[in-house]
Amino acid sequence: MIIVIDGPAGAGKSTTAKEVARRAGFDYVDSGAMYRGFTYLYLKLGQDRTRLIDILDNHRLRFDFHITEARVFHGDTEITGDIRSDSVNSHVSEVAAMEEVRDTVRQLLRDVSRDRKVVLEGRDLGTVVFPDADLKFFLTADPEARARRRYDERIRKGEQVSLDQVRENVDTRDRIDSTRDIAPLKKADDALEIDSTFLTFEEQVARILQYIRSTPTLSQDKVN
Ligand code: C5P
Repeated sequence: MIIVIDGPAGAGKSTTAKEVARRAGFDYVDSGAMYRGFTYLYLKLGQDRTRLIDILDNHRLRFDFHITEARVFHGDTEITGDIRSDSVNSHVSEVAAMEEVRDTVRQLLRDVSRDRKVVLEGRDLGTVVFPDADLKFFLTADPEARARRRYDERIRKGEQVSLDQVRENVDTRDRIDSTRDIAPLKKADDALEIDSTFLTFEEQVARILQYIRSTPTLSQDKVN
C-alpha cells in the first residue's frame, strides 16, 4: 500500500509524512535522502559526474527506512547527518537532475516499497515513480513560510545559518527542481493539494488521516 506526499522544499513533507506513517501504522520513506546520499558520493568523487555515473551499479549506499526513522550508510559508515550538510544542500538539485541517478533512485524506491505499507515523500512520486499510488498528496505553503520553517528547523538543531541563506537555498532548489527536463516537481493530476500556510501541524496531519480513512483500499487498516 502506497501513500505519496510530494511538494516543494520546506512545505513540511517530512514531519507530516512521519506522523502520518506513525499514526496509520505505515513505514516512512524519504526519497530526498536517496538523492542526498548520491550527492554525498558526488562530492566525495570531486564533483565528477562521469565517475558518479560509473559507480551507480556499485554505489555501496544503504537506506534503512523503518517506521519514522530514515538512516543512510555508505559501506559501514553512517552518513545520516552528513547528507544534511550545506554542501549537500547546495548540490543536491544538480545531482537529482541527472537521468542516470533518477533511474537508480526510482528503482531503489520501488524495491524498498514492495509488499510494504509505506508513506513516501518527494517531488515526482505521484507523477513518475508511483503513478498508481493508493493515495497522493501535494503539500504546499507560500515561499516565505517554507523558508521560515526550514530556518527554524535548522536553528533548533543548533546550526548556524541565516534566514537569507535558507531562503536562497530553498528558492534555488525549487527553481531547479521544477524546471528540470526529467521528472520535474509537479502535482499529479489526481493528487489532493493541501496548502499548509495557515494550517497547524496537527490540522495538516488530521486532514491527511481523514483522506486515508475514507479511501477504501486503505481504510480496513486501523488509523488512529
Ligand atoms: O526532500 P529533500 O529536501 O531532502 O530533497 C532534496 C532534493 O532531492 C530536492 O531539492 C530535489 O532536488 C531532490 N528530490 C527529487 N525528487 C524526489 C525527492 C527529492 O528530485 N522525489
